[in-house]
Amino acid sequence: MKRSEFLVFGRPAIEEAEIEAVARTMRSGWLGTGPRVAEFEDTFRGYTGAEHALALNSCTAGLHLALLCLELEPGDEVITTPLTFCATANAIIHAGGRPVFADVEPGSMNIDPARIEAALSARTRAIVPVHFAGRPCDMDAIMAIGKRHDLRVIEDAAHAIESAYKGRKIGAIGDATVFSFYVTKNIVTGEGGMVTTNRQAWAERIKVLGLHGMGKDAWKRYQDEGFRHYDVLYPGFKYNMMDIQAAIGIEQMKRIVAYRARRQAIWNRYNEAFAGLPLILPAAPEPDTVHALHLYTPLLDLARVNITRDELQRRLHERNIGTGVHFTALHLYSYYRNTFGYKPGDFPHARFVSERTLSLPLSARLTDADVQDVIDAVRSSLS
Ligand SMILES: *Cc1c(COP(=O)(O)O)cnc(C)c1O
Repeated sequence: MKRSEFLVFGRPAIEEAEIEAVARTMRSGWLGTGPRVAEFEDTFRGYTGAEHALALNSCTAGLHLALLCLELEPGDEVITTPLTFCATANAIIHAGGRPVFADVEPGSMNIDPARIEAALSARTRAIVPVHFAGRPCDMDAIMAIGKRHDLRVIEDAAHAIESAYKGRKIGAIGDATVFSFYVTKNIVTGEGGMVTTNRQAWAERIKVLGLHGMGKDAWKRYQDEGFRHYDVLYPGFKYNMMDIQAAIGIEQMKRIVAYRARRQAIWNRYNEAFAGLPLILPAAPEPDTVHALHLYTPLLDLARVNITRDELQRRLHERNIGTGVHFTALHLYSYYRNTFGYKPGDFPHARFVSERTLSLPLSARLTDADVQDVIDAVRSSLS
């Protein structure tokens, strides 16, 4: 019954092509930001259809810089979902804003446009929707609210590289969109992120802020064209991506369709296998959207069992299956509670999910035998 080896949650699919690309980059002698980063940005611009793509060393860095483009003043508010990774809210705080949470819809687990409307104030400056698990948010409704109230929309697309909404790629809709290539994400570079935007001024500012605030193309200062002096325009950050990371990303992007197809097969297999169990399975994707299938997040139906989600996770761990929790709603954590006065009951849908949710392995790397092991372990843990 128990598999012999622990199945690590979110272990990335890495192939020889990436290993060789990294070795080639290292042998080239140019490890830092350079031609591979420029190529990766071009690939991503072409993939999303956005006018600009800026590679950085994380999605968190990208969120921070995109939010700095808002030039927030003390007391300014940014509306986001409580059902996200802490980086989303932290970036708002680091950019000088106050995160204001709006509850999610129970089925999609995405931010509810009606709750955004209810959270608006005279100080609201922007909305940061998160495409949870790769399911696109209701962008028509969110963009319409933005337009009506003159707010910017910065999307957290850490889960949503492949996502599309009504024929448009996520990455070409809001004012800026930020992707992650962290080790567990759909496409990995180890650590890494990308901002896409159609705003030329934002693209230029993000490029400059991401490399110490030095004038653009400062990375070329050691190239063979001869040393160039640079200016410093802002007190910037050290957020640039390395060529070593971009080399991995360029190879990974070649398999983006195949990887998603593999995750779709695993997703379908899970849906079939878990149909009769006390689990609330992920909702079907909305019509005319592409779900990036980043996380498979059933909810443990607490009304039908007498164990907790944590106990289910413990039982799965005992059977050598690694799992995740996406997410504990942010308003339940001490910092946001103590600083912004949130109460556990403030966002009942996000709290409902966070008490029941469990992420099962969904990496394209899983073999059929791995998937069967997960299914067997879930069934025996719930029987
Ligand atoms: C992973 C993640 C991030 C942060 O990505 P990094 O690249 O690790 O900085 C931000 N938001 C969400 C929703 C995430 O899942």
